[in-house]
Amino acid sequence: MSESIEKVKCLIIGSGPAGYTAAIYAARANMHPVLYQGSQPGGQLTTTNDVENFPGYPDGITGPAMMLELQAQAQRFGTDVRDGWITKVDFSSDVHKVWVNDSKEIHCDTVIISTGASAKYLGLDSEQHYLKMGGGVSACAVCDGFFYKNQEVVIVGAGDSACEEAHYLSKLCSKVTMLVRRDVFRASKIMANRVKNTPNIEILYNTETEEVLGDGQVVTGVRAKNNATNAVVEIPATGFFVAIGHKPNTDIFKDYLNLDETGYIINNPGTSKTNIDGVFVSGDAADHVYRQAITAAGTGCMAALDAERYLASKEG
Ligand code: NDP
Repeated sequence: MSESIEKVKCLIIGSGPAGYTAAIYAARANMHPVLYQGSQPGGQLTTTNDVENFPGYPDGITGPAMMLELQAQAQRFGTDVRDGWITKVDFSSDVHKVWVNDSKEIHCDTVIISTGASAKYLGLDSEQHYLKMGGGVSACAVCDGFFYKNQEVVIVGAGDSACEEAHYLSKLCSKVTMLVRRDVFRASKIMANRVKNTPNIEILYNTETEEVLGDGQVVTGVRAKNNATNAVVEIPATGFFVAIGHKPNTDIFKDYLNLDETGYIINNPGTSKTNIDGVFVSGDAADHVYRQAITAAGTGCMAALDAERYLASKEG
């Protein structure tokens, strides 16, 4: 039996820093926001151990604790935070329709998309084990590099992100070993050359990760294999960084919104507006460049302000 259709002034999809910041602003503007948390309540930050670069936390805070605080702040002003996964949308008319878990239908005056992006991982059991333990696997050098100061780390990937992150790590860590699965970089020449010219970065070409090694709690090294010679090496390391790309969580919007070739939502420059009136985007779903909690929060604020102004203009 289908449930009756609910009407909502402002629907926020996603529960990372972008979604909760949008919710705080929308709730305080009396827009009665409803926020659906999605499959990973709290977003990517829940896979991060300590957050030390979000202003306002001089002693740092864990990712999950920070997300609970953001949620509490959004709820304090009346945000209706719900479990659920938006599985389908229809943005073909003035009333923006969304479906929760393929059943419940909601009609929204405004929609703020804060669905984020997911870092890609290799998928090895050992990698996932230490990622979940917070024991030395990371997909964000800017977030976690500092914890490996003066230590040896390994990074996987050969695109612009991997080069940028390897270079960032080289300034903190005593040694960075970069595992490149082919005999060439995918990155632009300038980025690849910067890595090649950095003395404490060692590049191993044709090299694939076999296993992340550790003592059960923390990473102690990486076993990798040369796919041309089959030679196996064990590289001592306390950190294992994965920089093989991100996937924006935007599949359900592709029939309605303008996306770039990777799937990031294209917003009107300097705003959170998409190509559909009343639909706004914030956070990593539209950002392959900065990808930080603080930039996501900033664009969440922009989306709520843009949504509020859109509603005001409709009300005349
Ligand atoms: P890319 O898709 O460009 O690169 C991914 C890299 O990861 C490739 O080198 C790929 O190898 C490697 N890879 C993928 N899967 C595996 C695997 N299972 N094992 C080992 N290696 C793997 O992603 P990026 O995040 O680097 O970049 C995304 C976009 O953002 C690009 O357009 C990039 O130019 C842009 N960008 C620009 C920056 C800048 O200009 N400052 C900074 C960061 C990103 P292979 O090459 O063999 O396929």
